[in-house]
Amino acid sequence: MARKLAAGNWKMNGIGESLAEVALLLADPLPAGVAVLICPPATLLHRMAVLAAGRIALGGQDCHAAAAGAHTGDIAAAMLAEAGASHVILGHSERRADHGETDAQVAAKAQAALAAGLVPVICLGETLAERQAGATLDVVARQLAGSVPDGIAPARLVLAYEPVWAIGSGLTPTPDQIAEVHAALRAGLSARFGAAGAAQVPLLYGGSVKASNAAAIFAVPEVDGALVGGASLKAADFRPIVAALAAAA
Ligand code: PEP
Repeated sequence: MARKLAAGNWKMNGIGESLAEVALLLADPLPAGVAVLICPPATLLHRMAVLAAGRIALGGQDCHAAAAGAHTGDIAAAMLAEAGASHVILGHSERRADHGETDAQVAAKAQAALAAGLVPVICLGETLAERQAGATLDVVARQLAGSVPDGIAPARLVLAYEPVWAIGSGLTPTPDQIAEVHAALRAGLSARFGAAGAAQVPLLYGGSVKASNAAAIFAVPEVDGALVGGASLKAADFRPIVAALAAAA
């Protein structure tokens, strides 16, 4: 998959009729050099896979750390893979907040994802209180160390820096703030995997990305793409973001 990655997180949005948006997204060829990933609710994965026929990648939004068992309401990584997923979002701040997920749990889920052949898209980012306390770099370093499992091949990893206060709020960090965190994450990856390994990991920014700010965000050094929530639901909103990524240097 290309290092430039435009990923859409549909969250708990979308029923069968929403597949029309994917049909619209695919109505014209997507720009070359950019991988597009949509992570719909699990109920839509299989139908979306049939519709997309390999033209975009698909992902889940979470998986359980166990391969199977008595975990009512949860989903196993192999189930996502069978339904057509190649990726799975893990450690999204909404899961960390709503379900109390810890870094260790995220790492365990990532191991399960890898075992099922999925690429984990591991999310990390600071809260507003942590940023205001000057703790951003410490928080993301701790999350990077704790959420990315031992032994993972960097070519099988995507990271998304998502400041919690920017998600769904319309607020975005300044380019300098994004650059500072992405540089720190790339350095952290280099320390763990070496420079060549670190260079294989797409580093996405997420948090209120939209057509109007995408080009400025993609111009930030070490930003390889975006994890997009609200603006990924409609093809008319998502396509310009994909185009801005394709146009970025
Ligand atoms: C997200 O859900 O990962 C996200 C970044 O949401 P939004 O783009 O709506 O802020």
